[in-house]
Amino acid sequence: MIAKIEQLLKEVEALKASNAEELEALRIKFLSKKGAINDLMADFRNVPAELKKEVGMRLNELKDKAQDKINVLKEQFENQDNSCDGLDLTRSAYPIKLGTRHPLTIVKNEVIDIFARLGFSIAEGPEIEDDWHVFSALNFAEDHPARDMQDTFFIEAQPDVVLRTHTSSVQSRVMEVTQPPIRIICPGRVYRNEAISYRAHCFFHQVEALYIDKDVSFTDLKQVLLLFAKEMFGADTKIRLRPSYFPFTEPSAEMDISCNICGGKGCPFCKHTGWVEILGCGMVDPNVLKANGIDSKVYSGYALGMGIERITNLKYQVKDLRMFSENDTRFLKEFEAAY
Ligand SMILES: [Zn+2]
Repeated sequence: MIAKIEQLLKEVEALKASNAEELEALRIKFLSKKGAINDLMADFRNVPAELKKEVGMRLNELKDKAQDKINVLKEQFENQDNSCDGLDLTRSAYPIKLGTRHPLTIVKNEVIDIFARLGFSIAEGPEIEDDWHVFSALNFAEDHPARDMQDTFFIEAQPDVVLRTHTSSVQSRVMEVTQPPIRIICPGRVYRNEAISYRAHCFFHQVEALYIDKDVSFTDLKQVLLLFAKEMFGADTKIRLRPSYFPFTEPSAEMDISCNICGGKGCPFCKHTGWVEILGCGMVDPNVLKANGIDSKVYSGYALGMGIERITNLKYQVKDLRMFSENDTRFLKEFEAAY
């Protein structure tokens, strides 16, 4: 009987199970009522009295070891099961924080989306430009103050090369190589020789739109402006146009919208006028069409342009322009859910 117990002990030590079914089969084989150990227990009464003590101890040892071994194997399966249960194995092992879009990018994309729905396509051009595309092709007189060193970054060795002061330079680049109909939107960074403060920066961002075709009128422009204002600031938004002057448009206007903070009632943000200025616009000056090779007797068009920082301020009340370029993650994090 001792020999039989020894053999079963060896078997128990070597037990292996690769799944729950195999483990259950082992349990039945060793520990069930009809299992090997119970059979030995049943034979115990036939063991001679002088051997009973030793056989009894060995038998108990076998029973404990078999139970322990099966518990250990069972635990392994349970741990494996737990480790897979409800887990997404495609997830990264480490938590990765998603970045946020910059508020200026959010607003730029929103403006582009609105104009894209009207059939405008995006046009881009160089930030380092020549005098022709930034000024001359856009009807700036030789002595226009914008050409002054005070306003524009020139490159000393090459006075003809400037950092563009507006994205209108992209309009002239498109016009000189494209015959109408032209329907473009030009987003981009521009540069002015300004002292940096909370309300001015040496670089900022613009979006301009240009539409040239036969019979384009100021009415078309006004409809697009109204639609843009409502899409951007809400369906209740009202607009008003004030006469203005730009070298490249005639007539020119500046557009105000009803203050989106007080709804037009008057508040500190709109200086209690109920209106805030958001963009400049007008009909493309025939001189600009001529300078860029478009027949001004056949075609007419409108242009409009706005500062992205300005629109972002209106939407999110960012009081200090410098925050846009400081990359302070606490500021950027506030726009996490914006788009
Ligand atoms: Zn207001």
